[in-house]
Parts: sequence; C-alpha cells; structure tokens
Amino acid sequence: MSETATHCPYCALQCGTRLSHDAGRTAVRPDAAFPVNQGGLCQKGWTAPALLDTPGRLTRPLVRGADGRLAPAGWDEALDLVAGRLERIRAEHGADAVGVFGGGGLTNEKAYQLGKFARVALGTSQIDYNGRFCMSSAAAAGSAAFGLDRGLPFPVTDLAAADAVLLAGANPAETMPPLMRHLAGPRLIVIDPRRTPTAEAAALHLQPTPGTDLALALGLLHLAVTEGRADRDYLDKRTTGFDAAWRRAAAWWPERVERVTGVPVAEMREAVDLLAGAARAYVLTGRGAEQHSKGTDTVAAFINLALTLGLPGREGSGYGCLTGQGNGQGGREHGQKADQLPGYRMLADPAARAHVASVWGVDPDALPGPGRSAYELLDSLGSGGGPRALLVFGSNPAVSAPRAASIADRLASLDLLVVADFVPSETAELADVVLPVTQWAEEEGTMTNLEGRVLRRRRLLPPPGEARSDLDVLHGIAVRLGQDPARFPTEPRTVFEELRRASAGGRADYSGISWERLDAGEALHWPCPEAPAGAAPHPGTPRLFLDAFAHPDGLARFAEVEHRDAAETPDAAYPLYATTGRVLAHYQSGAQTRRVPELAAAAPGSFVEIHPDTAARLGLRDGRPARVSSTRGSTLATVRLVPSLRTDTVFLPFHFAGAGRANLITSAALDPRSRMPEFKVCAVRVEPAEAA
Ligand code: SF4
Repeated sequence: MSETATHCPYCALQCGTRLSHDAGRTAVRPDAAFPVNQGGLCQKGWTAPALLDTPGRLTRPLVRGADGRLAPAGWDEALDLVAGRLERIRAEHGADAVGVFGGGGLTNEKAYQLGKFARVALGTSQIDYNGRFCMSSAAAAGSAAFGLDRGLPFPVTDLAAADAVLLAGANPAETMPPLMRHLAGPRLIVIDPRRTPTAEAAALHLQPTPGTDLALALGLLHLAVTEGRADRDYLDKRTTGFDAAWRRAAAWWPERVERVTGVPVAEMREAVDLLAGAARAYVLTGRGAEQHSKGTDTVAAFINLALTLGLPGREGSGYGCLTGQGNGQGGREHGQKADQLPGYRMLADPAARAHVASVWGVDPDALPGPGRSAYELLDSLGSGGGPRALLVFGSNPAVSAPRAASIADRLASLDLLVVADFVPSETAELADVVLPVTQWAEEEGTMTNLEGRVLRRRRLLPPPGEARSDLDVLHGIAVRLGQDPARFPTEPRTVFEELRRASAGGRADYSGISWERLDAGEALHWPCPEAPAGAAPHPGTPRLFLDAFAHPDGLARFAEVEHRDAAETPDAAYPLYATTGRVLAHYQSGAQTRRVPELAAAAPGSFVEIHPDTAARLGLRDGRPARVSSTRGSTLATVRLVPSLRTDTVFLPFHFAGAGRANLITSAALDPRSRMPEFKVCAVRVEPAEAA
C-alpha cells in the first residue's frame, strides 16, 4: 500500500487528508493532525478519490476535426496545432488577440507560470481568472483598508476562542463544513436573505432584502456609534478616516435601514450588542456580501464596522474573508490577475515591473500593461471585438460566468479555443483543442489556503493515459513559440524556487518558504521573507496587523461608502429577487462534483427555492419544473418550497449545466473597482415550466 499526506482538491479550507492506494483502490481519510479540519471532512472531501477515475476523465488530447467532432490526437499534433494557430493569430491581429483565462484551483506554481506565460511567451495583456468572480471585492476592500489582502489574517483556529462572530453572506455549514467546528463556541450572527444551515446554527439571523447588505452594515455602524460602542482609543491610535466615513453612515439611522433592508431595528441592536459586548469578536464576509455591483463598498462597510469596534489587528479579534476556491488565496497572488504581477505586485508599478522582469530575464518595457477583467475579457471574445483565441486553464466559464448563454456564444465564436482540464467541462465541449491535465493526487505543488498558509500538494498516483501537468503544457506551447525551454520549467519545485524570488519584497512574500520547510511540517503563513545569511529562518506570519497595518503610516483606513440599489430590482414584469449560491454536495461550476456518483445522487439537478405563499400565487408546486426568467434568458429548475425564505426572493444553486444553468439569468453588472459581477441579485419571474 502507498500513502501520502496531501489536501482536499476542492475548497479554500484545504482540509488535510491521508490518501492511500491499495490493490487498485484509492481511499481518503482526514488528517487528524491538521489543525484546520481536525479530523473532519465534508461529503466532497470523502468522495474526492472518485474524481481520479471518473467516467469521461480526459486522458488524451482532443482536436476538433473537419467533421466538427473532437477526436483523439497525439500531444505533438495538438501542441503544434495550438502554437501554429496562435502564431498566425498574433501575426495577423497582434499579441492582445490571444487571451488566457486561469483558475483559482490551480496550484501556486501553475498560477505563477500561467501569468508568466501570458506576458512573456504570448506578450498579451489579456489574462484574468475565475477568482475575479469569487472574492475580488473583499480583496479590493481589504487592500484599501489594511494595505494588504489576505483572506483570514489570523489562523482559522483563533475563531474557536471568540465570543461572537458576525458572518455576512457566508454559509460555511454547506460550503466548508469543517469550519463549523471552529464556530461552535462563539455566538454566531448570520446575515443572509436565506435561512441557511449556518443561519439555523446562529444565535441571531438577520434576513435582509437581497442587495441591501451595505445599508445594513451602515445601520449596524450607526447603532454602534450612537449607542457608545465605538472604541475611541483604537480609532485614534490605529485608524484614519473615521470622521468622513461616519458622516456618510450618520444618514443611515436604524429606522431608515429597517425600511430599506427589512431587518427590524431590534435585531440590528441585538447584533451590535452581541458583537460589541464580546471580549473577542470577528467580522467575516463571504460571497453574499461580495458578489454585488457594490461588493467592494459592501465589504468596506463591514470593515468599517469592525474597525469602529476595534477588532482588526487585535489578538483574538479581527476581520476576514472566507475565500472560496481551493487556491483562491494563492491564485490571486502570483500574477493571474489582469492588473497584477507575482508577489501581489501591481502591474502598473514601474518598480514591480522591473523586479519581476529581472527574475524572468526580460525587458520590463516589453511587459504588457493591465488587461480586461474576467467578465469583460469573456464578453469581448471573438465576435465581441476582443481576443480571437483563448486558452483556458482550470476553469469552466460556460457555466460559471454571468450571462452564461452569451458567454458560451462568445467562446464558440473564437478562431481558437484551447481548454486544459482533467474533465470534459462544458467549456471543453466548445473547444477546438482539449488538453488532458493532471489533478491533485497526480501532481506535486503548493496551495495557499484561506489563512495564507502554504501547503504541500503531494502526488500518490501516476496520471492516467497521456495526461500531463499544466506546466508541461505551458512549456510545450512556449517552446513552440520560440521561447528558451529553460524559461518555462516543468518541475513544480523549480517553478516554486523562481516564484520565491519573484515574490521577494512583494506584499505576498514567499521567499523564506521552501518545500523542505513545508515537508518538515512547519506551518508557514505568508509573508515569510528570506532571512539574512546566518539568521534564523523567518517563522512566517500567522497573525497580521498586530502591531501595525500594512499602509506606510501603519494605520487602517475607513472607507467613505454609501448604499445604492442593486443594478436591477424587481418590477411588474420580473417581480421577484433571485439570488444564487452553493449546496453542500457541489463545488463551483460542478464540472467535477457532478461526476461523483454520491454527490450527483445527493444533488442531482437544479432547483429553485421559493416561499410556499409565493409558489401558490404563481401556480407552482413542490417537485414540479419551473422556468425562472430574467431579461437575459430563462433557466429550468425543480420547485422546492422553503417556508423560511423571504416571500420576495428565490434562490438557485449555480452548479448545474445545460438548461439548468442559474447563470443563464444572472446579471453582469460589475463592481466599478473589483469588476465583480452581481451574481447575488437580479430580477426574475417564475412560472410553471409546463405553462411556458
Ligand atoms: Fe474539501 Fe472544503 Fe470539504 Fe474540506 S470543507 S473536505 S477542503 S470541500
């Protein structure tokens, strides 16, 4: 029997696992010693081995032939074809005619290499990734407030000692169940339009109208200040900008907030009492606060609340964002984002360009500038006037992007679509070339979980068939485009060594982290700079901001924020709010989990949750099909009656494909700073599918 210690392939908790293989069977069990999951796994983690030999697993390159079908091909044939067509498109239309779309599940090494490949081998500015759809609003708000964005600036285990935790728009009881063991002690306050399993476990559930979280945060701040709960000493010593932020919030007196949000003043007051009365307290945000056209301001409003109560940067208290994807943290640090370089450096910063260019051995002036954000990139493809070719790594935008039908049309209109994946996702089905790649148990590398803890992913099994690492794929294309082979190594450890140098001195500094230290069991959270010669290695930084925030003056910044309506609110034609989210059995676009029999059985298809009174008024019956329509299109879902839901709101999970894609109806209104689409609010009508 062979066994290795590795981590779950799915969410940002990155639960520790022991993976074994014996007599043709692969089994997983939780690693009791790993502090994040402490012996727990969710349904997805327990069933993860089924992903390794799932039916349809991609094991050979596929090339679309003259008959329109994808057919097996050799690697040389596939890579020659890709490189040849890329060269032709670049020669005819320029470097920005080729785009790259990455993923928040890629290892640190792959994410790093993908950014370098785009900017050096392709010379394109057109790269972004699906993490833009995940936590980009929290990243923008956290960077502005603290000078540095790390999902949780403290270990997840700190939460257990808290007295109160406010969860704004997060449902960890379904999305990352082992986290709940750290939330068993504190009194939970949950803000969510739905009564989720997390809300069921809470001491207090505030159920606002979708799209009004920002007003609610302003109301909580108003109560905290007017009822004397602000920490004046902390405000004076550790923050700046309170007065200007308060001038905006002062107009949001509780009764006005109640009218806008539907949350009773008494409940708001109880929330503030719980939070302000706790010796140790945290404010945490999730996608529910972030996936709005005002997501950055909404998160900033919750950070303002946390700052007013004196929480961030205090041991045992704080603010954090529950990052979602497996490498949602690391994926945003190494240069996959349209405007960033490795080390969380800004692409527009001349010093950052010079440093990274020196590591890459290129002229900084040759590096392209910032490109389009994820949705804007996808919406510009092909017939949209943007890139004519796209390379997709570890992402399934045909399901996960808003206005999914329109995005699928854009993808189909490309001169060349290349998808590297290990399952035939809905995006791969549209591709001209599909490249089979390795997955978690078949590869070495590192991931960075939601606490900024860098983790080793270890290989137990050989890849099936002809599947190769994404690093091999990037090397193969880069060499064919005339790059020096040594510039695109295929060994993950070699890539990590380069990543360390590229990140040195940056905001996410990995230079003091080595695979040897990780393999020796050290818990290393970035920033972890390389120690001077002769000095002890840097211990990493599990807790940020205890002495100072990361702005040059060491102070946290309040943001001046104002509530505004969602881009779309119900009207006579589309009288209900729709909000989207996740279920326990599935992960992201479902491309992986829909192929796992136990998970598919647990959640076989799309559904729409609706209040029984609303359903009765619309002639909808439990278990029957319904058509949910917005101005962008319709999706089909099975009616699920939920008495705890607001009567003005329906909920759909976004994990399903085909006619059940929730993103067929979602809005692409973007946050002006994070460029996050408004997945959480749109206006819909619901009708029996038979009648439509
Ligand atoms: Fe995997 Fe996340 Fe479930 Fe843990 S909580 S087992 S990391 S999906």
